[in-house]
Amino acid sequence: MTPHAAEALAQDAKDPLACFAAQFHHPYDAAGRRLVYLCGHSLGLQPKSVAQYVEQELQDWQRLGVLGHYAAKRPWIPYHEQAAAPLAALIGAHETEVVAMNSLTVNLHLMMVSFFRPVGMRSRVLIEKSAFPSDRYAIASQLAFHGLNAPEHLIEVAPRPGERILRTEDVIRRIEQEGGTLALVLLPSVQYLTGQSLDLIPVIGAARRAGAAVGLDLAHGIGNTLLNLHDWNVDFAVWCSYKYLNAGPGAIGGCFVHERHARNVAIPRFAGWWGQDAATRFQMGPEFNPIAGAQGWQISNPPVLSAAPLLASLDIFQRAGIRRLREKSIALTGFLQRLVDTLLPGLVDIITPSAVDGRGCQLSLALKRSPADAKRCYELLTEAGIVVDWREPDVLRLAPIPLYNSYSDVVAAVDALSLALRR
Ligand SMILES: *Cc1c(COP(=O)(O)O)cnc(C)c1O
Repeated sequence: MTPHAAEALAQDAKDPLACFAAQFHHPYDAAGRRLVYLCGHSLGLQPKSVAQYVEQELQDWQRLGVLGHYAAKRPWIPYHEQAAAPLAALIGAHETEVVAMNSLTVNLHLMMVSFFRPVGMRSRVLIEKSAFPSDRYAIASQLAFHGLNAPEHLIEVAPRPGERILRTEDVIRRIEQEGGTLALVLLPSVQYLTGQSLDLIPVIGAARRAGAAVGLDLAHGIGNTLLNLHDWNVDFAVWCSYKYLNAGPGAIGGCFVHERHARNVAIPRFAGWWGQDAATRFQMGPEFNPIAGAQGWQISNPPVLSAAPLLASLDIFQRAGIRRLREKSIALTGFLQRLVDTLLPGLVDIITPSAVDGRGCQLSLALKRSPADAKRCYELLTEAGIVVDWREPDVLRLAPIPLYNSYSDVVAAVDALSLALRR
């Protein structure tokens, strides 16, 4: 056994969260070999309890039909409300600031309807240059909807030439330069490609001083890093639940709307009956009186079968605790970084910042190879039973997930990568 394999075994033995791995289904290959899964940043593993949660709703539907709206074990009408408290705990929000609904990009559109309201000179949106494509499409189409064009009204902040990571001071300077032309600043908490966790507090401060609304995309932040959305005073945030939240492919997403907007009925929104005040919703009257808080942005009644896995997963998060998870995550990703540095010297560049506050659990590695050769390394890793993610032209993204990955998983991945790079 190598010294690092022995070290990993010792760490696993004393890891207080190690027991949670057994609460997840770990994928196997056709030969029955357990895969080493470091891809929870793309799709989280399935909690074993998901089957019971979904089965409960199937049975209640069989047994009760429409009566399940009130009489199901977890009644369907307020079903999604059960997600609010655990979601609020993950992002540092009040329960009324959070709602599980729709999917990320849909929620981004709904939030922009309310919080991107260009007036006169104040008509621009600031994003980062390598924003996730869906966010960019959503924003460009919202600009077009307002009769604005992307090159002029879409401001992109980029890393400096030759660098891959955004510098906080550059983002702030750009916000200050644009000043009163900015209607909205939309940034990720953790950048999906580089794994960089942005230093949000000073950036949010600059955006607010400029008078812009602030939105966050938490796709790679929720369930990964510690967030404090209420105190940070952002206007809104959106997320999906199939990545770090393990709620399954296409799972119901979520939305944060800051409390200071909770009762502001002057904010335009795309309304639907599920946003209607619950006390009068079933009177079916013509007047729309939104629920105070994030729930007032709901449109349709929630997809119970797609929300059931989310509740199963959030229950696990509550038991593990996001602070304890983050503590393990820092150690686990630190271990990954140390192995990469010592076992793969000169073979890869770690793109992700090395400062603990500058990243979540993901490390993005640029392979120092020709693109074709780099792709081949990724394929060899896959053949070796290591599930990671590949981004053209040369980036591997590895995410050791504190809920279900071990130190030994990390060793297996780096050993396989070492073989692939030296073949
Ligand atoms: C994963 C991801 C999305 C996904 O959008 P959906 O609407 O859930 O398909 C959007 N934005 C970012 C930054 C992501 O990482």
